[in-house]
Amino acid sequence: MNQPEISFELFPPKRPDGIEALLRVADKLAGFDPAFISVTYGAGGSSRERTLGVTSALAEIAPAAGHITCVGASCAEVDKVLEEYWAAGVKRIVALRGDPLEGIGAAYAPHEEGYAYADDLIRGAKKIADFDVSVGCYPETHPEARGLQDELDNLKRKIDAGADRAITQFFFEPEIFLRYRDAAADAGIDKPIVPGVMLQPNFKGLQKMAGLCGAFVPLKISQAYEGLDDDAPARDRATIDLVSEICTRLVGEGVNAFHFYTMNKSAIAMEVCRNLGLNKDRRAA
Ligand code: FAD
Repeated sequence: MNQPEISFELFPPKRPDGIEALLRVADKLAGFDPAFISVTYGAGGSSRERTLGVTSALAEIAPAAGHITCVGASCAEVDKVLEEYWAAGVKRIVALRGDPLEGIGAAYAPHEEGYAYADDLIRGAKKIADFDVSVGCYPETHPEARGLQDELDNLKRKIDAGADRAITQFFFEPEIFLRYRDAAADAGIDKPIVPGVMLQPNFKGLQKMAGLCGAFVPLKISQAYEGLDDDAPARDRATIDLVSEICTRLVGEGVNAFHFYTMNKSAIAMEVCRNLGLNKDRRAA
């Protein structure tokens, strides 16, 4: 089996004393020689300083990518963060619009002096520096998209603006990803569509997230976690097995890159990587 390219996603800890622990997680994941490890940007830019701090520290350990959103901020404010990323050695970004400040489902209105959508943000970022740019995409369509064509038109705008790859929202049915990948190729999208793979072992949390972003949760997934509410190790094991099965199926369909939503834990991600034939000492090799 060819070894797929991988990337990992972390979120900034709420308290400053969580940074050291998070960097230890990152260090373990870095052993798998990821293309990058990314750090999310809190809703509405709420974690700006923490994201900047963690991403800059992470850049010392591994290729780091800083997420950035444009919701609720002027272009000047966003540009300042981008300049700080670049100065700290963070040469990769995940460029996003962000959700409305009132929460998912509320009407979105661009900031009066801001970048309106992710494609505008990419054009702005590229004026600052030649960032490697990832963007988000949605196999089950973005909640605001009017359908698949609208979703793909928007993704095409982002690729045309300079995105290097698109990372998907999480999903559970491999076929959902594969249909989207093929539809994107048919729409002339020639950059990689990387499956975003969720490693959340807390099924209640997983259901909540899936509800918010519109991801279909098949019965098979609910059944795998049934009766495990009070058994964390069994839930971890179920997550590893389910995710490994999804990834293996995708590799069989020619998928050669994965982005893991790690929930800031290393153990599940590491086990899934091993199941994909990846070696934790790849970095040194
Ligand atoms: P866009 O691509 O800008 O588009 C969103 C919707 O806006 C489109 O579906 C379309 O309906 C509409 N639209 C786009 N362009 C136009 C236009 N020109 N005219 C009219 N309508 C238009 N959120 C965070 O807050 N922080 C994070 O760190 C974060 N990380 C993420 C990582 C990944 C991999 C993914 C998939 C999502 C992430 N999100 C994050 C969530 C993301 O911010 C939301 O999904 C948001 O609602 C959409 O962002 P986008 O960049 O995909 O939006």
